[in-house]
Amino acid sequence: MGQLHVFFFPFMAHGHMLPTMDMAKLFASHCVKTTIITTPLNAPIFTKAIQRTKNLSTLISISVIKFPAEEAGLPQGCENIDQIHSEDMAPNFFKAINMLQEPLEHVIEVGRPDCLVADMFFPWATDVAAKFSIPRIVFHGISFFALCAGENMRLYKPQKNVSSDSKPFIVPNLPHEVKITKMRLADFDKEDIETDFSKFLDKARETEMTSFGVVVNSFYELEPAYADHYRRVLGRKAWHIGPVSLCNREVEDKAQRGKETSIDKLECLKWLDSKKPNSVIYACFGSCADFATSQLYEIAMGLEASGQEFIWVVRKAEIEDDNENWLPEGFEERTKGKGLIIRGWAPQVLILDHDAVGGFVTHCGWNSTLEGVSAGVPMVTAPFFADQFFNEKLVTEILKIGVCVGSQQWKRVAIDGVKREAIEKAVKEIMAGEEAEERRRRARTLKEMAWKAVEEGGSSYTDLNALIKEVSAYQAQKHIKT
Ligand code: UDP
Repeated sequence: MGQLHVFFFPFMAHGHMLPTMDMAKLFASHCVKTTIITTPLNAPIFTKAIQRTKNLSTLISISVIKFPAEEAGLPQGCENIDQIHSEDMAPNFFKAINMLQEPLEHVIEVGRPDCLVADMFFPWATDVAAKFSIPRIVFHGISFFALCAGENMRLYKPQKNVSSDSKPFIVPNLPHEVKITKMRLADFDKEDIETDFSKFLDKARETEMTSFGVVVNSFYELEPAYADHYRRVLGRKAWHIGPVSLCNREVEDKAQRGKETSIDKLECLKWLDSKKPNSVIYACFGSCADFATSQLYEIAMGLEASGQEFIWVVRKAEIEDDNENWLPEGFEERTKGKGLIIRGWAPQVLILDHDAVGGFVTHCGWNSTLEGVSAGVPMVTAPFFADQFFNEKLVTEILKIGVCVGSQQWKRVAIDGVKREAIEKAVKEIMAGEEAEERRRRARTLKEMAWKAVEEGGSSYTDLNALIKEVSAYQAQKHIKT
């Protein structure tokens, strides 16, 4: 048998593409040939990263397939979930996603890989892999904790017996007592109604059971009870290989992850270098959350009132055509030197890794959460949708390295509802005081564990080797049979 060749097929969202790029690098560093399948407008995210990998670049390539935006009723050029600014557009995005089965089959037929790592949002990828007799591995991009909580919600539907949207109830059968409210669930989960999307998710979960296994961007020591629960109680085959972002060791790799940054990395580092250790709070809410103008205003007021030095990332989509109405009058003059607003895309991993950063206000997307853990930074949690509310529980109640800002309501577009006073209070609490020091100490310990996990002999390093060996053994077996 020749060199192993693995195809990766990430969902068209930065929270899925970025860890996939890192996974491809990790596999390549274990001498596996990798190909990432993506669409024309998402391709530059990968090509630029590949060019920088120098010695590994011959082992990583990309294969581009057309994204049928217009055929699915989307505007031309809409190829990423970060361009979906209204709930009405989402079904069309998933319609386009479902039209990718045939192009996927074609690239697999031509490239003949040994394995396909495909996102959970492509449930039919398991059938495609089966057609070519190769194993399909699922990538969800979320934590073991959220995988277990989500599955137990699906199995037991505890929300059915709860009358009020704000009444906390227990997510059954988890290693810890975890409480949630119906307000923090998506509409279809809240009312347990069948929608096209809920049917699609059910199908995705079904194919997870028939796939070769699940690859998880996490490390065992972070959530051992849930890594065990997922495997032993829920019966899934899984490999944990994270935090995958730790493969970015050079300044350039940390700075140029994802889109073109809206601030020069040197300027950003110079600003941070001028600050004392642990004095800056970094606020960023991921790649696709859409805030209402009123919410941006509250965040600004809350950050200012906290009296802390800060970096605040505001997405381009939120500020376009708004004549800066989202910014309180005189805000930038008053916070000059003390605060830095990045309008667009920030070099997040570079910022988090800087000694000056002492806290992270995050929406609890799993990548951001894990990047915060990997940098040893305590967090202010402000979740809004998807697995974010579960990640908040993990960070604040189980790992005890975070303070909740108090977000209550599932919302992806026109997000609002978090008040300035709550932001001020949580930021102050995370940055200073006895409890803050305790949290910081715990966060530092987790950082050390994260780095150990990816080093040779560490839990994630070993599991990645195990995964590669299993795929090789599967292929070897197939060759003997044929
Ligand atoms: N990110 C970044 N700069 C930004 C915003 C986001 O580098 O200005 C990266 C971040 O480091 C993370 C990813 O984008 O790796 C976002 O993924 P996450 O799961 O945290 O949130 P999502 O965008 O999926 O909601």
